[in-house]
Amino acid sequence: MTNPPGLSVVIPMYNEELVIPALVARLRPVLDALDETYEVVAVDDGSADATAALVEKHRLEWPQLRLVRLRRNSGHQAALTAGFHRARGEFVVTIDADLQDPPETIGDMVRLSRDENLDVVYGVRSDRSTDTIFKRNTAGLYYKLMRRIVGPDLPQQAGDFRLVRRSVVDVLRRMGDQVPVYRLLIPSLGFTSGTVSYVREKRVAGETKYPLRKMISLAWDSTADFTAAPLRLATWLGMTAFAGSLIFMVFGVVVWANGTVIPGWTSLFLAVLLFAAVQLICLGLLGEYIARIYRALQNRPAFQIGYDSADVTETPVVAAVPAQRTPATMP
Ligand code: UDP
Ligand code: MG
Repeated sequence: MTNPPGLSVVIPMYNEELVIPALVARLRPVLDALDETYEVVAVDDGSADATAALVEKHRLEWPQLRLVRLRRNSGHQAALTAGFHRARGEFVVTIDADLQDPPETIGDMVRLSRDENLDVVYGVRSDRSTDTIFKRNTAGLYYKLMRRIVGPDLPQQAGDFRLVRRSVVDVLRRMGDQVPVYRLLIPSLGFTSGTVSYVREKRVAGETKYPLRKMISLAWDSTADFTAAPLRLATWLGMTAFAGSLIFMVFGVVVWANGTVIPGWTSLFLAVLLFAAVQLICLGLLGEYIARIYRALQNRPAFQIGYDSADVTETPVVAAVPAQRTPATMP
């Protein structure tokens, strides 16, 4: 194998055939102009379209381009994990395929990291006006909540466009095949870090691969990965209900002593319904955490790499692989 490059650019791709031509046209001149040796690791996250075939086509005239294919759609964070496992550079930048993160910023990240000897450089969105109002609001809420959970070290509006050094990648790789939420995990590790701000652009083509369902799932994964606070909900609800029932007990005794009978069916019925619902919710929350323990114990890999163009021992499976139409789930 040749010498490791200075910079690896990891790009997760899920059904991104429409953006690849524009991505290559814009990314390549930027990287060629940098004073670094580099590789571009395109991680095909089980796409059902021509993503892999297109990358292979561009590889013919762009030798630094590399294709890593996951066997099935495993989710954005899993694709990033695969990228971290396979990237060889001293600097590893992760960037979206859809050109919402401007590739020109990569140069700023590398310079800042070199000049100030930083382990992590976050891309921070200074302007999200191209995102929909809905996306901006939900994202705003997400980052607020996460800051409460992870702490003030969490940079605001920093997604998965960032640079990490090899020292960070080594720590991430030691965590095995489990798929964390990187935008929370990396800030929580405490490496030296800086930020570069950029303006979030419009998706260049195609549509978002993060429908509401996946956004909710990411928000829940982020919460449950970092805090057990929801489990305490049961305790708080229980104590509140206990205090309430003490008051009602006194009230009931007083009314009974005065000889008045309370017409009770509706209130009883509502109380039973309410507490049944609360108990089921608490059980469900408990179940979520137990499921996490269960999955961690099973320790099955969250993704599998089926092909790596830099790995000459494996046969290419491009185009020949039938698309597996498994539902896209966040790990
Ligand atoms: N992505 C992926 N696997 C998935 C979903 C998304 O690899 O299951 C990639 C996608 O191709 C893109 C990046 O993750 O490069 C971010 O997705 P997208 O741009 O659709 O998200 P948004 O910007 O709308 O939040
Ligand atoms: Mg996008």
